Amino acid sequence: MIKEIRLARHYGFCMGVKRAIKIAEETAQSSDGDVTILNEIVHNEHVVERFRNDGVGQEFAVNDVSKGTLIISAHGVAPDVIEDAESKGLTVVDATCPLVEVIYDVIKEKVAQDFYVIHFGDMNHDETQGVVGHAPERITVVSTPEELQALPAWTERKLVLTVQTTSSMDEFADMTEMAKAKWPHLEVSDTICNATTKRQTAIKELAPDVDMILVVGSTTSANSKRLAQLGQELCGKAALIGSSLDIRKDWFTEDVERIGISAGASTPDELVEQVVKKLIRISKDGAVVIYPEKKKRKRAAAPAS
Ligand code: SF4
Repeated sequence: MIKEIRLARHYGFCMGVKRAIKIAEETAQSSDGDVTILNEIVHNEHVVERFRNDGVGQEFAVNDVSKGTLIISAHGVAPDVIEDAESKGLTVVDATCPLVEVIYDVIKEKVAQDFYVIHFGDMNHDETQGVVGHAPERITVVSTPEELQALPAWTERKLVLTVQTTSSMDEFADMTEMAKAKWPHLEVSDTICNATTKRQTAIKELAPDVDMILVVGSTTSANSKRLAQLGQELCGKAALIGSSLDIRKDWFTEDVERIGISAGASTPDELVEQVVKKLIRISKDGAVVIYPEKKKRKRAAAPAS
């Protein structure tokens, strides 16, 4: 029976996601013509659906947008995507997160100094595709230690290691160690964003105090998947759920009394609230809810002893 619901110290919307949503909302309100978001504005289907219901279009290629305003998502794009859009006469509104742009700046600066970039990330993710597009001839993406080890010796080449904003801090630390052993002259630029760092650190703090961790977030959200993976490693029992509808009562066996909750950087607070409410119902109103200081909402009644 659930007795305690404890929320992570940091969870949910980050600065870059709030900013991108605000830019998209303001653009949709102020534009007379068609407004289309390129890719998902943020990786959460509830947010994406809300824009769709408000009449904002969504496409995955500039070729599929013929007129109006094109909004670039929080994950950014390659410069040639923006050039293509502008050359078609589209008005481009850029909602790329400033912390993704930090990677662009590092790459531009280092490539200008004749460095070659090794980028630790997922090539299937929008962010990585945008990053690579900033210097396609000078970047290699690796997503596993094996891929890193398979790269050439590159003794003469100036090298810098960068990383996807939402990568695992621990995996990047391992990759850095391995890369340094292989190329002692390699420079490292840790471009994991502070929202990711805070949410992963908060899961580490939460894990010892709970029996199971639920992470609210989409399966398309890289940072949500990492949080669930970390929760599983540290707590032994964790699940990634899109919403309260994914909660299964059979998870809460006798030994699972304390539930920890976190949420990815693209998850709206209301989805987390719905999860908390559902857990309270499952506990038959007996669970105590412990919010972090800044996000205090309410405390359910403790069971009569
Ligand atoms: S997770 Fe980090 S990089 Fe991505 S939008 Fe949020 S703050 Fe920006």
